[in-house]
Amino acid sequence: MLRYWEAIMLKKLISKKADEMNVSGVRKMFEAASKLKDPIDLSVGQPDFDVPDIIKDEAKKAIDMGLNKYVPTKGMVELRNKIRSKLQEKNGITVDIENIFVTSAGSGALTLAFASILDKDDEIIIFDPYFVAYEQLAILNEAKPIFVETNNDFSLNFEYLKKAITKKTKAIILNTPGNPTGYVFTKKELTELVNICKENDLIIISDEMYEDFIYDHKHFSVGSIYEKTISIFGFSKSHSMTGWRVGYFTAPKDIIDAATKISQFTFVCAPTPFQYACIKAVDHDMKKYVDEYKEKRDFLYDSLKDKYEFEKPEGAFYAFIKYPYDPKRFINDCLDKNLLVVPGNVFSKKNTHFRISFAVCDETLKKATSILNRLVK
Ligand code: PLP
Repeated sequence: MLRYWEAIMLKKLISKKADEMNVSGVRKMFEAASKLKDPIDLSVGQPDFDVPDIIKDEAKKAIDMGLNKYVPTKGMVELRNKIRSKLQEKNGITVDIENIFVTSAGSGALTLAFASILDKDDEIIIFDPYFVAYEQLAILNEAKPIFVETNNDFSLNFEYLKKAITKKTKAIILNTPGNPTGYVFTKKELTELVNICKENDLIIISDEMYEDFIYDHKHFSVGSIYEKTISIFGFSKSHSMTGWRVGYFTAPKDIIDAATKISQFTFVCAPTPFQYACIKAVDHDMKKYVDEYKEKRDFLYDSLKDKYEFEKPEGAFYAFIKYPYDPKRFINDCLDKNLLVVPGNVFSKKNTHFRISFAVCDETLKKATSILNRLVK
């Protein structure tokens, strides 16, 4: 007969779902970084500038005014009104404020979107390379992530996409401008994608967290041409408030209602004082920062293009670069030189590229490109 403690030990502490999830590869790099002294860190996905003072002042004001309590699950009405105008003017998405949901940042929006639409064994198509959370959120919802390779320049491969769609496909997730590639989907590409989604009755989740970081084209939101879209935006990257945790999404009514139920018992609401500050942030012009990032992008491309093979990033603040030689040896050589980059297999089923973030000061970028160039003969 089993003794008491043996019987207890037979019960696993964690769920199968949690067990199946992977530790974020970017987090693993953070751990590697903690062992280095003053690393040249190109692994982190957040801007190097601070939140503009005028927005910080609004947050402080809100705290002092006692705006520290719960607000409606879907967010403060004043903020949603501002977002409604922004969506109309900037994204060409016309919605009522009831279809706008303020979330605990982009991750909160993704979590609610996945939980609202996916059932066990539903399939969700993810274009490879992809942002790390997509696969894990599918697993958490017991859905099946289906990876579809993109072309060499990261544009959509419609042949592969059509082959991947089955009766179980419920949704497609896309990210433009893209992390880790910096690729920006064209209007033509998205129009073709929408036609496929219409034919197969699929939902699109469009992650547009980097919509402001766009250097050569105009950002196009697929939600402006396809109603069954969950369009996700946020302030984390655009206003450099990754720690404030405010984002938002817009979606058809049924999805908003489902997300409201889920949020009532999970997030409850996004942080109130920071929602208040975001009323100011929506209209705050961040162009000067984006112009600086364009310069960083140009510097990076010009510095590395002769020795490395990669697409010039058109948006976000990442470059996804082909390994010049054996991946493991290359990452170790970078670590030996105190340089942190992220291995591509964190964002892909293949390990052909590495990701660098150019959201760093010019000095760091100069040092990093010089090390990278010295690594290749
Ligand atoms: N979507 C993409 C593509 C991202 O790169 C990130 C963060 O790196 C997120 C969503 C999540 O952003 P947040 O910090 O607002 O949760």
